[in-house]
Amino acid sequence: MTEHVTKGRYLQLWAPFIARSWSDSAWNRDINRAQRAWAGEMRMWLIPGLQGEPRRWAERMGNLKFREAAVPSETFNVIDIIHVSPGGWAFPFSRAWGPQLRDDLLPLWLNAKPLTSFSSPPAVTIKVPVFGDAEEGTPVEYIEQTLDFEPGPVLPFAWADSNAQTAYAVWPPPGIGLPTPPISPETENRELPNLPSDRSSLPVYVFWDGPFGALFPMGATTDLLFEHAEMRRAHALHSEGRRREALGLVEARLSILLHDGVESTRELAWFLPSLMESRSQALADLQLGFGLRFPDRDLEELSDALAHPRFREVMDAKVQVTRVFGWEGLLWLSLRQCFDAYTHTGLCPFCGASLVGGRIGRGCRRDENPKCVKDRAATRRRKSRHSKAPSK
Ligand SMILES: [Zn+2]
Repeated sequence: MTEHVTKGRYLQLWAPFIARSWSDSAWNRDINRAQRAWAGEMRMWLIPGLQGEPRRWAERMGNLKFREAAVPSETFNVIDIIHVSPGGWAFPFSRAWGPQLRDDLLPLWLNAKPLTSFSSPPAVTIKVPVFGDAEEGTPVEYIEQTLDFEPGPVLPFAWADSNAQTAYAVWPPPGIGLPTPPISPETENRELPNLPSDRSSLPVYVFWDGPFGALFPMGATTDLLFEHAEMRRAHALHSEGRRREALGLVEARLSILLHDGVESTRELAWFLPSLMESRSQALADLQLGFGLRFPDRDLEELSDALAHPRFREVMDAKVQVTRVFGWEGLLWLSLRQCFDAYTHTGLCPFCGASLVGGRIGRGCRRDENPKCVKDRAATRRRKSRHSKAPSK
């Protein structure tokens, strides 16, 4: 098994469809509600206006069940609860993250560029479960709803470069008495009672390139933009040998985005992700590791395992997992693991990209940044031509 971002941990990643600031108080209350209600579901709906107790239902997925719950909430969202094995195998999986999480997410993230910002994201229609009055559990139907988005926070422009057609926003703006650096530009901005309204400003919602476009499908808050900058800052501090400061930044975020010792089940934490890796290996492990065997035959099919009288007992055993909030939580965790693994990280001496791993003085690999490798080769060729030129 290759070394993966999870580094031997069993993770339970809470990935919301709509990115929210983890400093937002209504969102935090809703996450609290969802955590209290979570009972092994793979998807949690947060539905404002839903009355009464959380609703739970399941849909058949071949031999297995896909379990969902809906929780009355203040904000709307859909959260995928993804269990990730130490090898990075994920259940449930989607096109956005695949059956195995990429293990190069951290270097890609550190060098990622925000793409575009909009005053509000484009309108999106999704199918939302609707429950009847007397209905316990199963949703009556799924009804298409167009999601409404509040515009992002308003960031005041600090200065503009009209030649480059670029405006620069700074948070906090000078002179309003907020400490720097900020913790959450998004919520500090929203909660500030009287932000000077006479200056030019732009409501912001940020979209990302590469795999992050799929992981943050609805764009992201300015807080994610800020967290991206903070992760780059932590990496740069670590590269300069300022390890204690770098770890301080990382630990402060992980104290909010990561909870160790959360109770889950063997089915969710181990068995379902293992099926993604190798069905035959998972069945062999059930036989050899947990003694799920029949006197007369091997477990050859998943249906054999499900038919075994001890299957439920083995699957329902409690196991401890690390709960991580958001892809940004996973990226902060990856950054800490990178710092744990290497006493030094570095920057590419050629293009300045953040490098993950102990490769000081060497540049990007081809798979990380083919352009950097190509440019270096071109520079070498140019130099060797010069050195061959006859000198007088
Ligand atoms: Zn480079």
